[in-house]
Amino acid sequence: MRHLINILDLSVDEIDKLIDVADDIMANPDKYNEVCRHKILATLFYEPSTRTRLSFESAMMSLGGNVLGFSEATSSSASKGETVADTIEMVSGYADIIAMRHPKEGAPIVAAMHSTVSVINAGDGGHYHPTQTLTDLMTIRHEKGRFDNLTIGLCGDLKFGRTVHSLIGAMARYEGVRFVLISPEALRLPGFVKHEYITSKGISYEESESLEEVIGKLDILYMTRIQRERFVSEDEYLALKDSCILTAEKMKSAKPDMIVMHPLPRVNEIEVAVDSDQRACYFKQAHYGRYVRMALIMKLLGLIENDVPYTPAEDKKPIVYGVYTCRNPRCITSIEHELPQAFKLADKENSIYRCVYCETRQNR
Ligand code: ASP
Ligand code: ASP
Repeated sequence: MRHLINILDLSVDEIDKLIDVADDIMANPDKYNEVCRHKILATLFYEPSTRTRLSFESAMMSLGGNVLGFSEATSSSASKGETVADTIEMVSGYADIIAMRHPKEGAPIVAAMHSTVSVINAGDGGHYHPTQTLTDLMTIRHEKGRFDNLTIGLCGDLKFGRTVHSLIGAMARYEGVRFVLISPEALRLPGFVKHEYITSKGISYEESESLEEVIGKLDILYMTRIQRERFVSEDEYLALKDSCILTAEKMKSAKPDMIVMHPLPRVNEIEVAVDSDQRACYFKQAHYGRYVRMALIMKLLGLIENDVPYTPAEDKKPIVYGVYTCRNPRCITSIEHELPQAFKLADKENSIYRCVYCETRQNR
């Protein structure tokens, strides 16, 4: 059973193929409007989201399939205390594929462990958001024509911005990619992303607190919203909320072919005056989301003809149970206490273990 929890669950060849299929769907929508007839997608949204949920539902309906689900935890049995595992055991009997968003990190991993149908992670806390990344990759391929030899600036909330984490993981697999990480000190990229995808692979990167200083070297500028809902204190959010703003003035120092991306929704981090700049791609990017999700649903249901063969990489990293307790307040284990505390060896040399669900480093 294939699931999409982390963007790295797909090989680069599979991603290319998905974008090819998405392009074909965009060009010939009629060819695809019955391919999921009698299939059901369940959208389990424990955290409200309009954009992603509607994009999944529209994708399934455009393929001729049906949709059921809930759009907030209060309208599901979670409000009665049902665990993710129990909900999934039941829903996988009702649907052919599941898209799930959850405020707790690692919840889709728990879902995948209990599901008899494919599970798609539609965003788990501040962790990952792989289908946004597919949308981002489709945008990059369309606008830049390649994935390699690009300097990518990621700006804003790199700590809680799950779309940033997934995009870095995906882009780190291509040759000659450089990352420029632009954020205030308090919102820097978490260790699990930096270590796993950048430093351990010897990929070149720099960190900066000033967008102005680095904008001139970028091929892609990926702007993000400060993730208010992940902050423990409102004062901390208020202190940081205006830290990285893209203005038309700053765009004057950017390359003529740099593209500006943003997963949306935008709050104030991109001045409206930038929208009319031909380098602004964020609305186009949102539009691609539907097609690439259609391609993904088809893939996971085994409906793509001549799909790329896939051999799962063997993961031999040892897991220890009950030795450490996850200290991340956003981890699924923080609310579901019966889940086993499981940690995987991430860095043998330095004996670093990370939580199997949310990837937070063990407490020493
Ligand atoms: N974070 C939400 C999403 O991805 C934002 C929204 O609902 O517009 O859908
Ligand atoms: N829509 C994206 C997400 O759900 C970005 C955001 O909400 O800022 O992560």
